[in-house]
Amino acid sequence: MEEQKTGQTSAKKSMIEPTRYNLDSRFRFRCHKGVKCFTLCCRGINIILPPYDIIRIKNRLKVSSEEFLQKYTRLDFLGHTQLPVITLKMLDVEDGRCPFVTPDGCTIYSDRPSTCRYYPIGMTTCKEQSKEGVREEDFYLMVRENHCLGFQEDKEWTIEEWRKDQGVDIYDEMNRGWMEIILRKKSYGPTAELSKGALQMFFMVYSDIDKFRQFVFESSFLEKYDISNETRAKIESDELELMKFGFDWLKSALFGAEAVKLKDEVLQAKVREMREKAGQAASKATP
Ligand code: SF4
Ligand code: SF4
Repeated sequence: MEEQKTGQTSAKKSMIEPTRYNLDSRFRFRCHKGVKCFTLCCRGINIILPPYDIIRIKNRLKVSSEEFLQKYTRLDFLGHTQLPVITLKMLDVEDGRCPFVTPDGCTIYSDRPSTCRYYPIGMTTCKEQSKEGVREEDFYLMVRENHCLGFQEDKEWTIEEWRKDQGVDIYDEMNRGWMEIILRKKSYGPTAELSKGALQMFFMVYSDIDKFRQFVFESSFLEKYDISNETRAKIESDELELMKFGFDWLKSALFGAEAVKLKDEVLQAKVREMREKAGQAASKATP
């Protein structure tokens, strides 16, 4: 069984309830400017930024992907997957506060990361292999941090109502392709290593949509891949379509999916080249 979690972790004392919540589960919670703990949760935390979150924030700040990555993020690695992840860089002041928090709240509130939207809930995706095939299931966990007084408020929600109120659906939908790549990599186990080139491809699509756009439109990429005019027009004019195309390309290039194919002539040339190399290796090995 594999899991991928979405949720912030905190250096402060917290408790993840050992209970599985589903969309109909109810909980009491309300966060507003009047709570004594207002913005306390925006300090000393580890917030992973999936690709859509990065695009939303860099556009909100009106900076390039590169500038955003340099100024506001850190590079980390996701468990034993060997895959790089980008996390929001907390400041070295005031208990490691988030660069976007002020006494009045979050300055990027309408573009805040999915983790901040979910809080105090964390989502986990379970992937189970059975005789019938692979089954994926989402469930939710409740994070109760000692400093968070929101649980003492009188507003009650189902998880589904909370998700709607916080606008997480679009984030989950946009980041799905990226999550699928991570789950696929995890399913191969920690010993299945990706090449340096494959990791660079993953990192480019994941973190730097500007660089990926350059790669697609200013290299020989379009000469090599079989891409319809319709797809080309879509990815040229829409950053999010380009991001989703990037996930499909990664799935094809890293795991042999059929979503983005090389042109026939390019594929044939590659096969010829591999055969020639194999022939040369065999003749060298012959005494
Ligand atoms: S109620 Fe909880 S979520 Fe809201 S500001 Fe306080 S600590 Fe943060
Ligand atoms: S992005 Fe906004 S909501 Fe999230 S930790 Fe920073 S200030 Fe708080």
